[in-house]
Amino acid sequence: MPTRHVDLAAVAANTRLLSERAGGAVMAVVKADGFGHGAAAVARTALAHGARSLGVTSIEEALALRRAGLTAPVLSWLNAPGADFAAALAADVQTAVPSGRLLAAVAAAAGRTGRRAVVHLHADVGMARDGAAPQQWARLCADAAAAERSGAVRVVGVMGHLGCADRADDPCDRDAAARYRAAVDVARAAGLRPRVRHLAATAAVLDAPATHFDLARVGAGLVGIDPTGRRRLRPALTVTAPVVGVRTVPAGSRVGYGHDHRVTRPSRLALLPLGYADGLPRTATGRAAVLLGGRRRPLVGLVSMDQVVVDVTDPPSAPGPAVRAGDRAVVLGPGRAGEPTAEDWARWSDTIPHEIVTGFGPRVRRFTEEYR
Ligand SMILES: *Cc1c(COP(=O)(O)O)cnc(C)c1O
Repeated sequence: MPTRHVDLAAVAANTRLLSERAGGAVMAVVKADGFGHGAAAVARTALAHGARSLGVTSIEEALALRRAGLTAPVLSWLNAPGADFAAALAADVQTAVPSGRLLAAVAAAAGRTGRRAVVHLHADVGMARDGAAPQQWARLCADAAAAERSGAVRVVGVMGHLGCADRADDPCDRDAAARYRAAVDVARAAGLRPRVRHLAATAAVLDAPATHFDLARVGAGLVGIDPTGRRRLRPALTVTAPVVGVRTVPAGSRVGYGHDHRVTRPSRLALLPLGYADGLPRTATGRAAVLLGGRRRPLVGLVSMDQVVVDVTDPPSAPGPAVRAGDRAVVLGPGRAGEPTAEDWARWSDTIPHEIVTGFGPRVRRFTEEYR
């Protein structure tokens, strides 16, 4: 059946490179199950190769890391006011606080459990997404300072997030960095002493040294995605699938749902058992290819839920060894042997490689090569 193979040596090499670029302090972001590569395995490898702490979105993700035996500092930054902050406190999970509402929820959990919450205030520096809006920031800092004096929380960090770091020379992040610096000044003026200022993620670690501050939160880069498309990292994921069957069809035959594709010559067609339910984007139809029998072969017809058809016809001028049932196709990989990369799939389906690597479903079984 289709498999994902995770190369932890690549994660280790990427972590070392990114830590060096960031000047040492890196938080390994392993949200969305380590970008589809396995959160615990990526976390363990990153920590062994220079990362100092872990970052995830939800408290549930943080607790899963604890259950997997990870004891490093963990920050969870995206929680609704009803989230289980008491469980976070019990598991020594730090939380980000983007609003007065969330500060109140965290402080209440601290009051109930008798444990002081370690928090990072989150400032929106230009994306209008997560983080406190600029007009609410001073108030949040004042409330956090009061909560700190009461003993409910300790503010150890101020975080922001950049919206355009993957676009070279876009001035938007210069403005964001200035807003971030101003936000830290406001926090200090409110009497807070945040030790850890963190703004940069992978793209900014690679290209925007002025945004590095005390810590960089890197996620995509750990698994080998260079958000700028410049391929400076080692992709860690390889997806393969066995050929279920091969058939020969006459010229004019139609392939797949809607008879969308018509072969113009006698053709050999191979069937692979993975489809859009497994993470192959249906929108890549007509563009995508896989590596099979030593060559790139086009997918033909629409991507189905569970299967795709690959045209493995060799030109009469360059016949190769016949593709057979049981042969394995490389659907995606680092690209070293000519297989398509996550960037290729992203281009074929109008998205970014992040969406491709996080999209594979549980039927694409994951195998992780141990690496220390
Ligand atoms: C996902 C995420 C990161 C990591 O970003 P990468 O570009 O994947 O390194 C950092 N910070 C926040 C808030 C995020 O959501």
